[in-house]
Amino acid sequence: MGEFDLIERFFWRPAGQGPRRAVVGNGDDCAVIAPAPGMHLAISTDTLVEGRHFLSTVDPTRLGHKALAVNLSDLAACGAQPLAFTLALTLPHANEAWLAGFAQGLLALADVHDCELIGGDTTAGPLAIGITVMGEVPAGQTLLRSGARAGDDLWISGWPGLARLALEAFRDTLQPALPTDDFDTARRAMECPEPRVALGLALRGVASAAIDVSDGLLGDLAHLLRRSRVGAAVVLDALPVHPVLGQRPLAQQHDCLLAGGDDYELVFTAPATHRARILALSDSLGLPLTRIGAITATLGLQLLQGELDAWPDDDTPPQPVPNRWTSFDHFKS
Ligand code: ADP
Ligand code: MG
Repeated sequence: MGEFDLIERFFWRPAGQGPRRAVVGNGDDCAVIAPAPGMHLAISTDTLVEGRHFLSTVDPTRLGHKALAVNLSDLAACGAQPLAFTLALTLPHANEAWLAGFAQGLLALADVHDCELIGGDTTAGPLAIGITVMGEVPAGQTLLRSGARAGDDLWISGWPGLARLALEAFRDTLQPALPTDDFDTARRAMECPEPRVALGLALRGVASAAIDVSDGLLGDLAHLLRRSRVGAAVVLDALPVHPVLGQRPLAQQHDCLLAGGDDYELVFTAPATHRARILALSDSLGLPLTRIGAITATLGLQLLQGELDAWPDDDTPPQPVPNRWTSFDHFKS
């Protein structure tokens, strides 16, 4: 199978079946898309490299899903509606079974979010997957990292920490060992993250700032704080603990929750006046949205233990906890 057969067979939709948005689609020198009037394009790129971002043994269908999911997660963090993506694929060889699985996982998620594969590049080399996604957002409504204000509530979606738990299980570092069912649950979170696109769209006009968690809650929160020039207090006891993570020793729970990585949940801030609205949104999306702290005028990140609602002006405020967690950095670890 040659390069062009491979591209046509696995990555092009039959004419007529495809959408929609590309003015010029797959197969020309450029894809051309027409942004709708009044909309801005939101664009983001993420690369997955074998051995670094995924294990060589991963199921190709899950890998296809994840490669697009991590990119859609960036659109979600900006409140953008997915439109289209390109795929730069570097393959050691053309393994048909692998390609069929990969394309299936990739294109199934693309269909869920109505996000069209409009072009790409295919080369031989060590396995790596680069995706660029494009989304649209009404002018002026993009969710940014820079909008958090002192006094805002701090929220997180879903169940952070499970992906890290699975990674440590693969590395065989967990004491006690993870039971098989729990491993399957954690592994699914690591290999098949669900990008929080619907949440991102619903947070337009509600959240003051947002970021997706790819390198660990505290590390990514620190990016948001820096861009917003504010600090935050995070109350450890308020963090959402998935039942599987809840079975683990407390120190392990905290490691996974705070410095996990690969979560693809959204961390966002919103004025306290939006609390009821955000909880209603959690119900309508069927997605936990948990208030985990508050934005402070004092710079830096404080970790607290105690009751979130006792903060900041109660007689028995939450107590500070030393921060021993750092975020994942490809060039340090
Ligand atoms: P060029 O040499 O002009 O850059 P290529 O030979 O790389 O073009 O690609 C031919 C066509 O196939 C282009 O339209 C390109 O967007 C598309 N394409 C290449 N690789 C992929 C891929 N992995 N997925 C989807 N489309 C692809
Ligand atoms: Mg090319």
